[in-house]
Amino acid sequence: MRMRRQPVVAGNWKMHKLRREAQEFCQELLANLDEEPQASIILYPSFPLLTDMAAALDDPRVSLGGQDLHPADSGAHTGDVSGPQLIDAGCSWVLCGHSERRADHAESDALVGRKAEAALQHGLTPMICVGETAAQREAGQTFKVLERQLSAVFSQEFGEFTLAYEPVWAIGSGLSATPELAQEVHAFLRQRLAELVDPEQANWVSILYGGSVKPENAAALIAQPDIDGFLIGGASLDPDKFLAIIRLAAAAA
Ligand code: PEP
Repeated sequence: MRMRRQPVVAGNWKMHKLRREAQEFCQELLANLDEEPQASIILYPSFPLLTDMAAALDDPRVSLGGQDLHPADSGAHTGDVSGPQLIDAGCSWVLCGHSERRADHAESDALVGRKAEAALQHGLTPMICVGETAAQREAGQTFKVLERQLSAVFSQEFGEFTLAYEPVWAIGSGLSATPELAQEVHAFLRQRLAELVDPEQANWVSILYGGSVKPENAAALIAQPDIDGFLIGGASLDPDKFLAIIRLAAAAA
């Protein structure tokens, strides 16, 4: 029988929703979630929503995360947020290196590595995002790019983390990777994590797929042996779609 890691289903809300909408979403989610969902569920709202959501989601079935953090503990960094501030707001997770941060804020691989280290130092679990652009894939550079992104972050005795493979061409485009293409990359990532970090840890770490995941394509993706869950943008804004994906992922557990 296939060894299964606990599925992880995460929603990245990006710069969407106002406080009232977030409140309504939380009520819907908790009212319709199974008592024991058989999946780890994480929501990444934007910073101003965090404290309200921490109160609304005072429930062990759902965790909260920040969409980014600064590597420093505090200081003169206007517009940034620190690990201790995220913890204080009720977070236990944080996204590091989402492709929109890499593109919009020129985040380098090395900076993503420093952010992941800071997260671990403060007791946040980093969800580290990697992925190639359409141009890089067309140029046959997918594995080279992923290798560069991984080796800037990971080293031996790295703490607890989750990895998300998010091909940039699949994010928000409606063009999800096929299950076979995603599986090929996930197997490569797991193999490289075994070499960079530790074989045992690589065996158990969750590697999520992200890029136009919807209820219609989630079952085929989660059926792949190295796809352990999802990082979801658009579909996570709708509680019905998010719940449907949670159920599909949990059914594969
Ligand atoms: C994302 O932003 O991480 C993402 C995967 O977005 P979408 O699901 O909308 O493609």
